[in-house]
Amino acid sequence: MAMLIDGKAISAQIKDELKEEAAHLAAEGRHVCLAVIQVGSDPASSIYVGNKKKACDYVGIESESYELEEHTSEQELLSLIDRLNGDDKVDGILVQLPLPGHIDEDSVIRAIHPDKDVDGFHPESAGRLCIGEKGFVPCTPAGIIQLLKRSGIEIEGKECVVVGRSNIVGKPMALLLLRENGTVTVAHSRTRDLREVTKRADILVAAVGKPKFITAEYIKEGAVVIDVGIHRNEDNKLCGDVDFDDVKEKAAAITPVPGGVGPMTIAMLMSNCVEAARK
Ligand code: NDP
Repeated sequence: MAMLIDGKAISAQIKDELKEEAAHLAAEGRHVCLAVIQVGSDPASSIYVGNKKKACDYVGIESESYELEEHTSEQELLSLIDRLNGDDKVDGILVQLPLPGHIDEDSVIRAIHPDKDVDGFHPESAGRLCIGEKGFVPCTPAGIIQLLKRSGIEIEGKECVVVGRSNIVGKPMALLLLRENGTVTVAHSRTRDLREVTKRADILVAAVGKPKFITAEYIKEGAVVIDVGIHRNEDNKLCGDVDFDDVKEKAAAITPVPGGVGPMTIAMLMSNCVEAARK
């Protein structure tokens, strides 16, 4: 049976470290503050926003909530972001995605000042990551690097395969693994003979967006398997992009769903907020 990589425990450890840092900053008169904007009332988004606020409370980060009506115009949202960009009290700005269809997400992401871009989605943050400069890193892939490091899994020199090339997970994941001196391959829907590619991996990151897509035949004996996916089954249970039961005997280490990558995303958001305040 593979070693379970415990995202719940590791994220709790990170949040405790951040709590101390936030307290130090507060003692110096710098209270960390995150502005959270939600447009509309999509139930899943409301749960994510609620969890982020809960984590802020735990770490000692002040969260300012902006709950805007579904029909809010793009201009109104951009004006709010502009005001928050200019507010010295606000360290980070988070706009919960997805946005209603009449609002252009790219324009909104670009409107957030790069110094307050705690989601790490702004093109300047992406560019900095690409050229190896310091900047905000998207939370999910940043959390995966922490999971690997804090579980004692070496990345340097390893064959790393990332399945998925989205701007929020796959691409930044590949760049972070490269930064850690992994030998990185990015696979996607046009990859020929995916199984042959994934079977090379010492570290396999699955960010495919398809439930239980990665089965034992996609992995090498003794691989480390990181499952980014989150899906709800017909029986209302959560599962990932990896078929956990099929893979668990063949892998050396694996992240469960839930309790693997998921909790790390919020912990790294908290980390980016503290980093923003330190700047
Ligand atoms: P996207 O849908 O944006 O990207 C999916 C990627 O998988 C694409 O690059 C796509 O390729 C690739 N892909 C799709 N089908 C195949 C296939 N048959 N073979 C190989 N590659 C394929 O998803 P995200 O990156 O946003 O998210 C990935 C997963 O992670 C989702 O399940 C999502 O719910 C989850 N997630 C979890 C988070 C967490 O906190 N745990 C945070 C963010 C996401 P192509 O580019 O060619 O279309």
